Amino acid sequence: YTSVELTQHFLNRIKNLDSQYNSFVSITEEIALAQAKEADERLAKGDANPLCGIPIAHKDIFCTNGVRTACGSKMLDNFIPPYDATVVENLRAAGAVMLGKVNMDEFAMGSSNETSFYGPVKNPWDTDCVPGGSSGGSAAAVAGLLAPGATATDTGGSIRQPASHCGLTGIKPTYGRVSRWGMIAFASSLDQAGVLTRSAEDAAIMLSAMASYDDKDSTCINQPTEDYTATLGNSLDGLRIGVPKEYFGEGLRPEIAEHVRTALKWYEGQGATLVDIELPHTHLSVPAYYVIAPAECSANLSRFDGVRYGHRCDDPKDLNDLYKRTRAEGFGDEVKRRILVGTYALSAGYYDAYYRKAMKVRRLIKQDFDQAFEKVDVIMGPTTTAPAFKFGAKGNDPVAMYLEDIYTIATNLAGLPGLSIPCGLVDEKPVGLQVIGKAFDEGKLLNVAHQYQ
Ligand code: GLN
Repeated sequence: YTSVELTQHFLNRIKNLDSQYNSFVSITEEIALAQAKEADERLAKGDANPLCGIPIAHKDIFCTNGVRTACGSKMLDNFIPPYDATVVENLRAAGAVMLGKVNMDEFAMGSSNETSFYGPVKNPWDTDCVPGGSSGGSAAAVAGLLAPGATATDTGGSIRQPASHCGLTGIKPTYGRVSRWGMIAFASSLDQAGVLTRSAEDAAIMLSAMASYDDKDSTCINQPTEDYTATLGNSLDGLRIGVPKEYFGEGLRPEIAEHVRTALKWYEGQGATLVDIELPHTHLSVPAYYVIAPAECSANLSRFDGVRYGHRCDDPKDLNDLYKRTRAEGFGDEVKRRILVGTYALSAGYYDAYYRKAMKVRRLIKQDFDQAFEKVDVIMGPTTTAPAFKFGAKGNDPVAMYLEDIYTIATNLAGLPGLSIPCGLVDEKPVGLQVIGKAFDEGKLLNVAHQYQ
C-alpha cells in the first residue's frame, strides 16, 4: 500500500467509527493526505525509516502548528499554536503522518477521560466502560484500530493505566529522555511523553524517533538516542526480575495477581530469576503525588489568565474580574480542585508541612528503587488493581479515582521508565503487566515486552 492509501483507510475508519468512541477531537484530513503524499515521494527515493508514511494520532496536549491544541479544556478551545512540539517535529521528520488530535482528560488530570471538555472517551472493549486516562483518546484510537499508534503523556500513570484498560503496549520513558517542549505542562517535574501502540515493536519504532536531546527543554538529558528495535530480540536468560510485595497487597483483584504470576512464570521459563523485593515507601506515593502534582499545576496553570491566549470572559469590569471569570468559566471542576489544593500546599506557613514533606517522601521512594535495582534488572507487577470500570463509577469520589494510579505513580516520582503490556483478561476486559526499569533502560523494557508478545 502507498502511504496515501493507508492514510485514507484510517481516515475512513475514523469517520465511520469514531462516533462510538469519541477519541478524536480534530481530524486533520488535508494535512494527513499532504504528508502522506510527501512520504510516498520519500519512500520512492528509498527512505528506509520504518515510520515513513505511517499514520499516527497526537494527544491534544502537544502543540501542533496551525492546528487547534485544546488539552481537553474549554480554556484552550480556541488556541491555535504557531509552532510544533519537539515530539511532533521529530515524528514528522521521521516521515510519520498526522491523522488528527485525540481526546484527553482536561490538562491531563484524570484517570478515566471523564474530565474532558469534549466529553468522555469510550473503551473499544466495552463502550460502557472508561478507557482510562488521561491518555484515553490515544488508547481508544489505537485499540479501536483508528490509528496504528499514538503519542501520549504520563505524569502519574496516564500512559500505562490506559494501556492496561485497553489491551495495549504503553511506555513512559525516563524523565528527560523525551523533550517536553511544546507539550502543555501539568506537573513539570513528573510529565513525560511516550507512546501507546499495539506491540512493543511499534512502541520501539515510535520512541526511537521521538526521543532526542533538545536544548529548548532544560530538563532534557543530553544522551545519545538509541534504536530501540535493535535489542528487541535479545535473550532474557539471566534477567533478574524484582517482584515487590507491596504491589500485591489489599485491593488488587486476585485474578490480576494470578495473570501477573503466570507471566512471571513464563519469564522464569526463559531463564529469568524472580527476586522478592521490598519498596517500603510505596504506600506514600499517592499522597506525595497529590501534593507535588497539584502544587506544580497551580503554578503552571497560572498562565491561563485570559490575557495572552485561550478563553477570555465577556466584558470584564476590571483586571481582577477578568482573571476571576475567565478562570471560573474556562476550567472544569477537577482542574479547579487541583489548583486549590496546590495553592494551599504552597502557601506561606504550610509549605514545610506539605510540599517540603512530600519532596522528602519523594526522595525515600527514589531510594527504594535505587536499592532494589542493586539486586535486579527490572521490576514487575500489575499496572492497575482492577480492569476498566463503568462511566460514573468513581465520579463523586476523587480519592477512589486517585487510587487508579497506585502502582504507577511511584515510577514518575522516581523519574524511571515504565511500561505496560497486556497479560490477560478479567471480566472479559484486558489487564496489564507493568515493567519498571533503571533510568534510560527503555531498550531493556521493550526487549522484555517484545519477548513476551
Ligand atoms: N491520574 C493521575 C492524575 O490525575 C495521573 C495523570 C497523568 O499521568 N497525566 O493526576
